[in-house]
Amino acid sequence: MTDERHNLLITGGGRGIGAAVARHAAQRGWRVAINYARDSLAAETLVRAIEAEGGEAFAVRGDVGSEDEVLGMFATVDARFGTLHGLVNSAGIVAPKARLDEMNVSRLERIMRVNVIGTMLCAREAVKRMSTRHGHGGGAIVNVSSVAAALGSPAEYIDYAASKGAVDTFTVGLAREVAEEGIRVNAVRPGIIATGIHASGGQPDRVERLRSVVPMKREGSPDEIAWAILWLLSREASYTTGAILDVGGGR
Ligand code: NAP
Repeated sequence: MTDERHNLLITGGGRGIGAAVARHAAQRGWRVAINYARDSLAAETLVRAIEAEGGEAFAVRGDVGSEDEVLGMFATVDARFGTLHGLVNSAGIVAPKARLDEMNVSRLERIMRVNVIGTMLCAREAVKRMSTRHGHGGGAIVNVSSVAAALGSPAEYIDYAASKGAVDTFTVGLAREVAEEGIRVNAVRPGIIATGIHASGGQPDRVERLRSVVPMKREGSPDEIAWAILWLLSREASYTTGAILDVGGGR
C-alpha cells in the first residue's frame, strides 16, 4: 500500500533503525525529514540514496534532548513540509555496561534527557501540528522503545531499560489523551538489532554474544523493525493506538 505523499519526520533517522524507516517510508511515498545529532555525513548520504531512488528527503540537525534545538528542527520541517502527518521517535542512546551503584548522575540525566524528554518534546511538537484540537488533520506517532523495558537489563544498563519503560507509559498515556483528536500513538519494542548502538555503548560484540538467547536464535535487522513501524504509521493500522508491539524474535 502506498501512503500518498505524506510528510514524515524521523528522529535519529540518519543511521540504524531510523535510517531503515526513512528508506522504506520513502519507497512507500512518504516525504521524509531525517533528523540526526552529529553524523551529518550519514544523514546526507541517506538523503542522496533516497533521491536516487526517486524519493523525497532532507536532513535536519537537532539534539532531541535540547528544547531549543527541537523547536528549531520543527521550524525547519514546517518550512519544508507545511504540514506534518507522521513522527517516528527513533533517536536514542545507551551508555557503557554498568551496575546502578557505578552510575553517576550525569549519565542518568543524559539517558533520560535523550530517550525520555527527547521523545516527549518531539511528540509535543508533533501533537501541536497534527491535532484536530489545533485545527489540523491528524497523524500518527511511533515511539521506538525496547524489549529492555520489560527485561530491565540488570547489570547491563537498567537506566536505559527504565527510560524505555517511561517511553511505553508515555505512549499509552498520550495515545489516550489525543485519541479523539485524529492522532494515533504507538510504540515498537525492538529486541537485539544489528546497528551501531551496541558499539556506541562499548559492546561491539553484543549482538554476537546474545544471539543465542533469542528464541529465533538470531538478531533482527533494522528493516524488520522498520516494517513494523511503517505498518503502525499506515492506514492499515487505523484502529490501532496505544499499542506496544514487541519485535524481538520471541525475546
Ligand atoms: P544507532 O544506530 O546508534 O542510531 C541512533 C540514531 O539516533 C543516530 O542517527 C543518532 O544520530 C541519533 N541520535 C542519538 N542521540 C540523538 C540526539 N540527542 N538527538 C537526535 N538524534 C540522536 O541506534 P539504533 O540501534 O538505530 O537505535 C534506534 C532506536 O532503537 C533507539 O531509540 C534505541 O534505543 C532503540 N533500540 C535499538 C535496539 C538495537 O538493538 N539496535 C534495540 C532496542 C531498541 P547521529 O547519527 O547524528 O549520531
